[in-house]
Amino acid sequence: MHTKSAKLKHVCYDIRGPVIVEAARMEAAGEQILKLNIGNPAPFGFTAPKALLDAIGANLHSSQGYCDAKGLPPARELISNHYQAMGVNRTSIDHIFIGNGVSELIQMSLQALVDNGDEILLPAPDYPLWTACTVLAGGNAVHYRCDESNGWQPDLDDIRAKITPRTKGLVVINPNNPTGAVYSKEMLLALVDIAREHKLVLFADEIYDQILYDDAVHHPMAALSDDVLTLTFNGLSKAYLAAGFRQGWLMVSGDTSKARDYLEGLNMLANMRLCANVPSQHALLAALGDPASIKPLLLPTGRLCQQRDLAFDLLSQIEGVSCVKPKGGLYLFPRLDPKRFAINNDESLVLDLLRKERILLVQGTGFHYPSPDHVRIVFLPPPEVLSDAITRFGHYLDGLAES
Ligand code: PLP
Repeated sequence: MHTKSAKLKHVCYDIRGPVIVEAARMEAAGEQILKLNIGNPAPFGFTAPKALLDAIGANLHSSQGYCDAKGLPPARELISNHYQAMGVNRTSIDHIFIGNGVSELIQMSLQALVDNGDEILLPAPDYPLWTACTVLAGGNAVHYRCDESNGWQPDLDDIRAKITPRTKGLVVINPNNPTGAVYSKEMLLALVDIAREHKLVLFADEIYDQILYDDAVHHPMAALSDDVLTLTFNGLSKAYLAAGFRQGWLMVSGDTSKARDYLEGLNMLANMRLCANVPSQHALLAALGDPASIKPLLLPTGRLCQQRDLAFDLLSQIEGVSCVKPKGGLYLFPRLDPKRFAINNDESLVLDLLRKERILLVQGTGFHYPSPDHVRIVFLPPPEVLSDAITRFGHYLDGLAES
């Protein structure tokens, strides 16, 4: 008998969890499913800037060998310059790691830090890969509350109350997936203070930093202190609409003199996976030279902004559904009023919705939200598809309330 390792026993990643298996079965049986479950822009008609594709094409021949385990030096230099221009003082190209997507770097950064029983503070709701990688590394994921009634801002008292001698890191996802919250400079400074006081590593997942709506401003966390060890994560998947290229970067900044051993661990893990995909690193070089590519989509007349507005308006019209309007990212995280919908198990709800309406969402508890009364909806599909899906979701919920 071949069984999976005990290490995987408590690891879960519901964005691609059991509901997906049922969706795949239905698709194989010829059913058409409206997929509002994954933040993958390409299937919805978004294309990466031409410069990225051209860069891969032009450099394909010279990309046949492995490169430096941390990534192509010119790409790392560009990343380092990019952050220095934003006020990050203490980083260098030696402290930049290019990976096969941010996902790989999240995994490496936690494997290199966490011992069995160490604790990592993560937001609830979270992007669940952070929890999965913490648990896989042997750590305990300790979730801090983000307050829906306060625009999903982190609850600083809850964070402080959950710090123990075993706490090693604090994860901040800004702009946030799944809530769409964007944090103020004051909030980020307060989080930096907590990390400083308790000697925590700050993990700043900023993959949506350029996907901002209305008057939202993003403040890179690494620029807010010179001393706190900060790991910043970003990449091509969202802002450059190129998730399939699997390109992400990790920048270590702050007082790295106190983190030599950790950096050595990161280096070792980078070496062990040899290097990131080389052709795509050329796309990264082109991307950082052209940061404005997604901007038109975010203007009030742009496709992403309009789809966010449409999805928000339609959801808000459903009786018993309320939602904080996202200021960033690609998702809505509406609340289904427990007084109207008696939901005991939100995974069953999502499964039932899939079977009855052929709409695929992700349940809120899949993001470690503690109560079964939220779902995440991706607003990448074009307006007519979004409108159809949310109208059908509303009919389904009306039926649920009456049953
Ligand atoms: N971090 C967050 C907050 C995300 O939402 C995602 C993907 O959805 C990732 C990281 C992973 O991105 P990548 O495609 O670079 O692995």
